[in-house]
Amino acid sequence: MTDVMTPEQRSRCMAAIKGKGTKPEMIVRKYLFSRGLRYRVNNRKLPGSPDIVLKKYKTVVFIDGCFWHGHEGCKYYRLPKTNVYFWKHKIAMNIARDYANGVDLHLAGWRVIRVWECDIKTKAKRQPTLERLYQEIVGGETKPIPYESSPDRMPVAAEPSSSYGK
Ligand SMILES: [Zn+2]
Repeated sequence: MTDVMTPEQRSRCMAAIKGKGTKPEMIVRKYLFSRGLRYRVNNRKLPGSPDIVLKKYKTVVFIDGCFWHGHEGCKYYRLPKTNVYFWKHKIAMNIARDYANGVDLHLAGWRVIRVWECDIKTKAKRQPTLERLYQEIVGGETKPIPYESSPDRMPVAAEPSSSYGK
């Protein structure tokens, strides 16, 4: 079996595997802590092992990487030029899993809040995003953070390209 990843893809992949405790997530944690919230992180007992679990508010927060979770129209969501089918399929599977986990969490009585990584990475958006997140957690009734991913936005799998599985 030959390798399907370029070095660039590989480093992205490794960063995603390392995943937990990466920077945007730390920024969110620190902020919520500074606002007096207490939480657990990476609770593997819950579907999708949410990044942040706020038991008191029956709320879980996911900080989604734009590439792996398929943030349409985002500059961080750029499919590699090779193995397009492979990547589209992989990301579509991630989105489907996110959705299924969200349903399971809802059924178990949890409120699910998803934050795009780019809204934390982009300095101009960071503060308003954090503030809105805090308000949503403690207020419960405030407008949800816009999160555009949904099953009908799943990337359409392309025809298997000739480069796939070479
Ligand atoms: Zn994004």
